[in-house]
Amino acid sequence: MKKITIAIDGFSSCGKSTMAKDLAREIGYIYIDSGAMYRAVTLYSLQQGIFGDNGIDEERLRREMGQIRIAFQLNADTGRPDTYLNGVNVEQQIRTMEVSSHVSPVAALPFVREALVKLQQEMGRQKGIVMDGRDIGTTVFPDAELKVFVTASPEIRAQRRYEELKAKGEQADLQEILENVKQRDYIDQHREVSPLRKADDALLLDNSHLTIQEQKEWLFEQFNRLTQTAE
Ligand code: C5P
Repeated sequence: MKKITIAIDGFSSCGKSTMAKDLAREIGYIYIDSGAMYRAVTLYSLQQGIFGDNGIDEERLRREMGQIRIAFQLNADTGRPDTYLNGVNVEQQIRTMEVSSHVSPVAALPFVREALVKLQQEMGRQKGIVMDGRDIGTTVFPDAELKVFVTASPEIRAQRRYEELKAKGEQADLQEILENVKQRDYIDQHREVSPLRKADDALLLDNSHLTIQEQKEWLFEQFNRLTQTAE
């Protein structure tokens, strides 16, 4: 069967990654979490002191972009890809609140987006890929055969994130998470370069009242419908 490109965009903490990863595994496609790439650049900036009292030192990050190597490798235990920054597994470190609260300004920098979009397009050249993010259907793969835009209310998304952190045994404050979710939504939607928006030809999925199982089934049905009618 001819492989297609699947773009899953939407707001933060919508369960995009979970549904995208599971679909990819089920249909034997590569899964790429583009948000992990922006998080890795953010972690690098935090580790190297590129964030100062006056915010981010853009010129320094621009100079150092070429030294930042991001890769994914399948984790045999979880069956999911882990993120590597310059050869080090940073899968846990990029998911902390510290990275979450610094990532949107980094992702708004045009030179960061240019470098990461190029890398993402290279990863998808052969098709057979499911990529999730904010601008996959609009900028990275505007010709993707299946595009989905996922949304849910900020309160529901914050609650999900809170439960996720708690389950991992991490400190979590629901109000702080809700503020972070809203702030990221705002920055992501209002940045100049490829702001978060639904592509005109994307299917809209509001999963506020769906279980993760229901949303996975919905996505799988969309894939089947498309690939079966295309044959
Ligand atoms: O998907 P996740 O929440 O991990 O993404 C982290 C951040 O990276 C988002 O809040 C957004 O600022 C940025 N991002 C982006 N474009 C993408 C993926 C993520 O700007 N394609």
